Amino acid sequence: MKLDPDLRLTLLEKVGIYSNRFSIAEPKVLLTTKEVLNMPKAMTEGRRTSAYKYYGVSYLQHNLIFINVRKIPDEKTLENTLVHELIHLRFPYLAHGKRFNKLVRQGLRGKTFLPYRKKTNPSGI
Ligand SMILES: [Zn+2]
Repeated sequence: MKLDPDLRLTLLEKVGIYSNRFSIAEPKVLLTTKEVLNMPKAMTEGRRTSAYKYYGVSYLQHNLIFINVRKIPDEKTLENTLVHELIHLRFPYLAHGKRFNKLVRQGLRGKTFLPYRKKTNPSGI
């Protein structure tokens, strides 16, 4: 899809809405491969020069996502990719699979999720 200022704004608004629903801190969003390459190397390590291959990438350590708008064919895939990457941020321990896909579908339907809490040390120390 063509990334124009309207689409950029629409996408950033959606990120805000979904971030609220998923109880996550709103991530920084990159929308072109150029923006990925302009980030400090440490932030995009592992998926930097390869980012163009994917519809989307999440950089969990840095609360950063890349949505490869130019590669994405249509609006439905765009929304799906966005929610997919945000689900990675909310469920950082979860790998791709049936459960992951179910959460993406629920997210697309407007489901809200409570904040992610890391397991605390049972001894309380
Ligand atoms: Zn993924």
